[in-house]
Amino acid sequence: MAKKQFKAESKRLLDLMINSIYTHKEIFLRELISNASDACDKLCYRALTDDQVGMQREDFKIELTIDKDARTLTVADNGIGMDKEDLENNLGVIASSGSFQFKQEADQAAADVDVIGQFGVGFYSAFMVADQITVTTKKYGCDQAYQWKSSGVDGYTVTECDKDTVGTQIVLHIKPDTDEEHYGEFLESWRIQELVRKYSDYIRYPIRMEVSKTRQKEGSPADKPEYETYTEVETLNSRVPLWQRKKSEVTKEEYDKFYRDKFQDYAAPQTVITASVEGAVTYKALLFVPGAPPFNFYTKDYEPGLQLYSNGVLIMDKCADLLPEYLRFIRGVVDSPDLSLNISRELLQHDRQLQVIASSLEKKVRSELEKLLKDDRAGYETFWKNFGRQLKYGAVSDYGANKDKLQDLLLFHSSTQEGLTTLGEYVDRMPEDQKLIYYAAGDSLTAVDQLPQTELLKQKGFEMLYFTDEVDEFVAQMLGQYKEKAFRSVVNGELELEDETEEKTEEAEDAHKAALHFVKETLGDKVKEVRSSKKLLSHPVCLTAGEGLSFEMEKYFQAMQPDSPIKADRILELNTSHPAFAALEKAVTEDPEKAKKYARLFYDQAVLIAGLPLEDPSAYADLVCSLME
Ligand code: ADP
Repeated sequence: MAKKQFKAESKRLLDLMINSIYTHKEIFLRELISNASDACDKLCYRALTDDQVGMQREDFKIELTIDKDARTLTVADNGIGMDKEDLENNLGVIASSGSFQFKQEADQAAADVDVIGQFGVGFYSAFMVADQITVTTKKYGCDQAYQWKSSGVDGYTVTECDKDTVGTQIVLHIKPDTDEEHYGEFLESWRIQELVRKYSDYIRYPIRMEVSKTRQKEGSPADKPEYETYTEVETLNSRVPLWQRKKSEVTKEEYDKFYRDKFQDYAAPQTVITASVEGAVTYKALLFVPGAPPFNFYTKDYEPGLQLYSNGVLIMDKCADLLPEYLRFIRGVVDSPDLSLNISRELLQHDRQLQVIASSLEKKVRSELEKLLKDDRAGYETFWKNFGRQLKYGAVSDYGANKDKLQDLLLFHSSTQEGLTTLGEYVDRMPEDQKLIYYAAGDSLTAVDQLPQTELLKQKGFEMLYFTDEVDEFVAQMLGQYKEKAFRSVVNGELELEDETEEKTEEAEDAHKAALHFVKETLGDKVKEVRSSKKLLSHPVCLTAGEGLSFEMEKYFQAMQPDSPIKADRILELNTSHPAFAALEKAVTEDPEKAKKYARLFYDQAVLIAGLPLEDPSAYADLVCSLME
């Protein structure tokens, strides 16, 4: 019998496929099961209007059979089936749809690789694992059954055959194992079960297979049990996707179990978010805010992304394009019938439907977080502890593109509040004469609390935000202001308090000019300026950064790159009413050598208070000791 040739284009693709440039060989099973499910759909639909079909939805099934001796894996369905023409048209041409045109534009082998990667080729992917495929099929309404047979590139045959029932049976003869490839794995029951659960768990028809099991032999004693193996036909897929059910009909336990099983988390999710959208793009989503950050969340090993399904068939395990970076902690699934099954990562990025889904998911998650903040403050604070930093990064990244959307979700520690505060709450508490949102940054709450610069503000009773995360000051800088109130660093900026301190410092500046000048001369380039402080009350000295870069930012950059030249300006502020300053002034006139030591001591102390490293700790120790002598 003469073999029919595949169309030329098909042949080349098939060649590539068989020589398997496509890495995920295992997807062949997903493809065959999806086809079988589609075929069941078609006949099931037909049954609605055609009494002759005589089948109910429950009657449809997909059966898998492994025959290790014959080295075959069989996928059978009782769906619509194919006639001779269908076989020729459907299985004689590869990728008759979009990929075909695309292929014509691509002319070199490299591009071919892409084509397969981007579209997959459905049925033909079976040639990645099989050296011969036999399709036996009988179409609904036809009396004659047909057999299609092919060993790949050299073409195919179609012959008449006998088949009692309507439907399609596809027998794959699995390739022999090679040094590189262990094709035999596709003849292992556990592997097939695993693949069905991974890719086809939510196919709505039962996927059945005979599996062997072990049980205790009847009558064997409990203390010396004997076992026997037996086989049983099992349904491998769980069928009903949780996300297809209404939220009100699913219990918390069901959601928790689903989340734990699917995302291998010990902790239950903190929040369950569902979405069901119909319109320009139709999709369902089931998302979770994890109850705790995954152990590798803040490392580069953590792979963000949602599972993407098309009608219950897994397309991609971690689709990162569905969520903005700042929501990378969200886990979950999205199912949209509008997405093509065989779409690659590269192409998906530009998929318009995907973008529409992504932006509506972003809004949905944000509004759920806003709701959590409003309705369950303790819950939100737990969330914040786990993932809040991610939102702060979100406010800063992309040149602040998302800052307006995120600013009301941010929480900070405060000098006057027990727990955390939002910016809105802070502003609502501001007394009328407070014009600015004050903050102070440092390594820890205690460190910030003890900063000398915070004294005056505390005395005035003004509230201060405590920035202990390295990203906090960047957030303030990016926001610039909140509800028209500008952010102001207590450490670096002027407090702009309306009282006499201003005048007083100017007087002090004049009165103590000589000593201040002396200190500047002594310290040289180490400091940009030495001045009389407006902020200090009981403390003698502090270090203030000039405009722009703060000390916390400097620390951040130093941590990234230890010899980074990025440094904040150092301004030494002295409390001219402090006895230590009086001692300095006295020494300036009476013992200049000693005064120089005092100047250096002031500076080193200020550096320590600012949480910066001393340039030369042993010189500092010597200095202190020399003053004790
Ligand atoms: P796709 O499924 O993307 O259209 P395939 O190469 O997987 O591409 O399949 C080509 C066509 O062959 C299907 O569209 C369908 O019409 C037909 N087909 C494949 N498998 C079956 C089956 N089990 N039952 C009925 N028709 C099938």
